[in-house]
Amino acid sequence: MPTDPSLTSFVDVPAGSHFPIQNLPYGVFRPQEGVMPRPGVAIGPEVLDLSALQSRALFDHPQIAERHPFSGPTLNTFMAMGPDVWQHVRERLTELLQEGSDLHEDANLRERAFFNREDVEMLLPAEIGDYTDFYCSEEHATNVGTIFRGPENALNPNWKHLPVGYHGRASSVVPSGTPVRRPCGQTRPDDDEPPVFGPTKLLDFELEMGFFVGPGNRLGENIPIDRAADHIFGMALVNDWSARDIQGWEYVPLGPFLGKSFATTVSPWIVSMAALEPFRQAGPEQDPEPLDYLHTDRDGAYDIHLEASLTPAGGTAKTICTTNFGYLYWTFQQQLAHHTVGGCNVRPGDLMASGTISGPDPGSYGSLLELTWRGENPIPFEAGSERTFLEDGDCLTLTGWAEHDDGYRVGFGECTGEVLPAQGG
Ligand code: MN
Repeated sequence: MPTDPSLTSFVDVPAGSHFPIQNLPYGVFRPQEGVMPRPGVAIGPEVLDLSALQSRALFDHPQIAERHPFSGPTLNTFMAMGPDVWQHVRERLTELLQEGSDLHEDANLRERAFFNREDVEMLLPAEIGDYTDFYCSEEHATNVGTIFRGPENALNPNWKHLPVGYHGRASSVVPSGTPVRRPCGQTRPDDDEPPVFGPTKLLDFELEMGFFVGPGNRLGENIPIDRAADHIFGMALVNDWSARDIQGWEYVPLGPFLGKSFATTVSPWIVSMAALEPFRQAGPEQDPEPLDYLHTDRDGAYDIHLEASLTPAGGTAKTICTTNFGYLYWTFQQQLAHHTVGGCNVRPGDLMASGTISGPDPGSYGSLLELTWRGENPIPFEAGSERTFLEDGDCLTLTGWAEHDDGYRVGFGECTGEVLPAQGG
């Protein structure tokens, strides 16, 4: 069983590492400049090159021999292959990483297949054809609704009946570590004056998690909720950077546009749903009962601890939010069932994000908009400085992990980005 807490690897995994043998998340890395990127798996401080294992025919599944999913610079082919192949690869990797395995005994192969994670460049794990962002945290939707419309109208009438979402921009999804330029745009700071153009003054982050789609569906055919899990490859951290002043002026009536599309950052390691299975649990009670196409008896929440920290230029990091994926009202399965119920086709490598994940306490709010309550309560930083929204040079980092009772962590690594001054600024 790949999630057995007693399993150990011949690779030395320090206590508290995000990447023990029970995790085995997938990513795409470039070993050094000028070399082709290839899929890999994180184990402790190392990356294991899957293309090297594939070329030695160490996976004996017929579909792998036929389709070579680890030859290209993305994971899309592997994502498309579905749960049977994913399970085969995960079980085989679990064997190969234990003492006495074919890999352990082959010093030559080990030399070629392992890289130190600090020496490699991590890229986007997939070619993302489409990116969709949902709005699935009741606490977040309530907070934002209260800030903009007052507590009586906080949740819109549709919110408890369907997972609200919008089609985002896939071209500006970037891997962790990519700097993010402060966007310019149109805002209307004074309701009695005409709009103005300039750099956003209200740059924010959104702490989210996303999933990558595995096998897709045909146009015109939906993915039923009870089969949705087979179409979900795995999860990553997502920062849905937001320009609140641009968003606030542009969003009526068609929703977010330029206030969101300038950048979305994803963490490089995709944690499989199999690795997260020990942490699956019941989510918040759904009342009213969802319509049949969104109804399932299978628990779809996961106990994943999440944090956001802010590091001012030249300063030290401060944790500004601590929350949990388990607070989400709508599950990933429900998001996927809803997304496809009208016949919209999704494809392997598509990214779907949860929406900002806020919890019930003020310290668990997943955006500065909520943490500072639209700037009314600044967050103190060292030397008397404070933050309401992000400033140039600020670095925003998300991290998260599930912690097993027997001590191991299934972690997601980091999702980080530094804010650059606006173009020409
Ligand atoms: Mn969002």
